[in-house]
Amino acid sequence: MRSLLSGLVLAFLLLSAGSVPALDQLDIRVVLPEDASLEKLETIMAIDRVEDHVVYGTLLDRDLERLRMAGFVYSILPRPKISELQMCPEGWAEATEPAWNCYPTYSQYVDIMHQMADQHPEVCRLESLGASSNQLRPHEILALKITDNPDSEEAEPEIFLTSTMHGDELGGYILLLRLAWTLVANPDEDPALTKLIDSTEIWINPLANPDGTYFGGDETVAGAIRYLSTPSGEISGIDPNRNYPDFVAGPFPYGQPWAVETLEMMHFASLHSFVLSANLHAGAEVVNYPWDSTCALHPDDQWFAEISSDWALDAQEDGPAGYMDDCFTSRCTGETCPMPGVTKGADWYSVAGGRQDWMTSFRHGREVTVEISHEKQLPSAELEGLWQSQRRALVDFVGQAQRGIHGMIRDTGDRPLPARIEVLNHDDPVSTVFTDPDVGDFHRMLLPGVYDLRISSAGMEQLLVGGIVVGNGPPYPQPEITMEGIAPLLREPLETE
Ligand SMILES: [Zn+2]
Repeated sequence: MRSLLSGLVLAFLLLSAGSVPALDQLDIRVVLPEDASLEKLETIMAIDRVEDHVVYGTLLDRDLERLRMAGFVYSILPRPKISELQMCPEGWAEATEPAWNCYPTYSQYVDIMHQMADQHPEVCRLESLGASSNQLRPHEILALKITDNPDSEEAEPEIFLTSTMHGDELGGYILLLRLAWTLVANPDEDPALTKLIDSTEIWINPLANPDGTYFGGDETVAGAIRYLSTPSGEISGIDPNRNYPDFVAGPFPYGQPWAVETLEMMHFASLHSFVLSANLHAGAEVVNYPWDSTCALHPDDQWFAEISSDWALDAQEDGPAGYMDDCFTSRCTGETCPMPGVTKGADWYSVAGGRQDWMTSFRHGREVTVEISHEKQLPSAELEGLWQSQRRALVDFVGQAQRGIHGMIRDTGDRPLPARIEVLNHDDPVSTVFTDPDVGDFHRMLLPGVYDLRISSAGMEQLLVGGIVVGNGPPYPQPEITMEGIAPLLREPLETE
């Protein structure tokens, strides 16, 4: 007995020497007592949804004790049934019309992304943002560029759609994959699609966290996790939507370094001039717009509320009864359910290090976070219904970039200028927009009204362009602006951050 015990102790020591126990993630439901603060809970778990005093979210198993010690009453939610997550059959990626009621394996995903670019070179290019964190089983972060003349820079607004940075929020992955497929393979099914391809540059990244989605193996999405992976393929505990520099909370809001995926996404965004973007999630049914980290209003708050409401209304009309109408009491104003299906981030619950705030502040873009289904690991049988409910909302969202002022700023030698555009008596330094320096075009989405712009570019004389009228529909103003100043070669590049 004695030698058996010492043998067991030795085995335990050997097993634990130099190794940290692997983390696991738990989906959890917490009842929030009247006097408890949501902010405190947010430091222990990642919140997906708050309904009155009930909070749904994800927790690392190592933090369960902290939750208990803090006095929260909780229950652990059952994991989804594997049988409900049907994987796609062999040959799926090569089919003329792939079925959309299944989840692709990782290699099928990579194949179909290549197929789209290879078979439709007139409108599609494939790019890799880089490799994922997992070095033992690496995955690529892929994005498709969909537009007419994909190799030339045109004076078109650049729009970015991305999904599933939380690897276990699966529906948006297939939704965006199918949107990309429809745009490149079947654009003639709807004139609205060809119009988008002709007038915008659409970037689609269906899967922002492949390590998380294929955590359980490249052949299945059944073991998907929220978090990013470590280089050795374990749960890193880094929540990708709390990992961005924050204009309120600082560069490292949770004290964690920027993950590989975060750095690659920041680099990708710096190479482009995205004017409008959407980041798809699941766990709730609501369009969430900036700011997440403060109750302060973005100068375009009304515009954000309107485009978010347009999205929610489309989805409510096209979806089943009660779809996409989550609403909450505002934590900033106390107002009860101001708009079903729409919330400003901090009205719902505050998040630091989220991507929509980063894109909207550091990149001067406009990003919304769209929660598209209560179920995170949506049964594959429900993917068709999700498409029917969200297809028009997605297409209309991309079309929002056509509204507002679409100008061109060049110097007297007709060279494109990097320039800042400020809407007088409206913008703050964060909400000003910039030209795409490659072409000189800018796109300032605005509600109907009359606007005065101040244009500045290093080394150039500042210009005021007044009385620009934005109507309810097209045609929208397209001012051609020429700036005078010293030769562009002598100018310093304009600081955009
Ligand atoms: Zn999420």
